[in-house]
Amino acid sequence: MKIIIIGCGTTGNAIIPLLEGKITLIDRDIVEERNLDRQRLYTKRDIAQPKAEILGKKFHYDYKIMDLDYSNISILKGNDLIIDCTDNLETRFLINEYCSKNKIPWIYTGIVGSQARVMASTGDFCFRCVFAEVKGLETCTTVGVNLKLAETLGKVVQKEVQKISSGKKSSGLWANGEWIKVKRNKFCPVCKGTYKYLEGKKENIIKFCGSSRYQFKGNFDFNLVKKRLKGKGSWFIHKDFYIFKERVLVKAQSEKEAKKKFAEIIGS
Ligand SMILES: [Zn+2]
Repeated sequence: MKIIIIGCGTTGNAIIPLLEGKITLIDRDIVEERNLDRQRLYTKRDIAQPKAEILGKKFHYDYKIMDLDYSNISILKGNDLIIDCTDNLETRFLINEYCSKNKIPWIYTGIVGSQARVMASTGDFCFRCVFAEVKGLETCTTVGVNLKLAETLGKVVQKEVQKISSGKKSSGLWANGEWIKVKRNKFCPVCKGTYKYLEGKKENIIKFCGSSRYQFKGNFDFNLVKKRLKGKGSWFIHKDFYIFKERVLVKAQSEKEAKKKFAEIIGS
């Protein structure tokens, strides 16, 4: 099975060691000291390095340090299963649309406070059939996540993966220890073929959940910035900045500070 795991945070840390196959890890964030208590695969030595790279090397898996969005979502193509270990609904709706359109099974995982959920979509219904778009819902879900809950969730995912790899259908929605049957919603826009997340929305600046980093997308010329700051490689570190081809991560206490730093160092 070719599997892509999106997100190397708390749920990713619980799930990754339980799976086998040809696995690719995707993550956009950097390891911080505050992650170490819940994200047990990282050690002090990993601080300030990209999460995807640390775990990719540790488990000998392919990895991509990237922020999945509508413009690069086709990276999921050719895989047998996608596992969502992200912490935001927007990415889940995006994955759902791509996987529904291209008929790729995917598993949603989420922890909201003391609630854990797992749901595989294998064609009979989709994520949007069950979850409506509510603005602001599930922001920063990984803050304060219970580690035991994440471990339980990992085992549920492991079983669903085994089921799907043997050609069986989804078990439905697992929520806090119970399986709930799920059916296609006849009003679901995604099942009717409307893919608004795949068309793309642009968020210029976002703050990562459970992290002190802000991300800026677009709005700069990577090669020019690289030359000016004497960076090396396909991405590089400069002071508080991680500079990638299409995005920049910067450590800051507030959005205002992040914008100020960006203007000073990267320009626009
Ligand atoms: Zn649907």
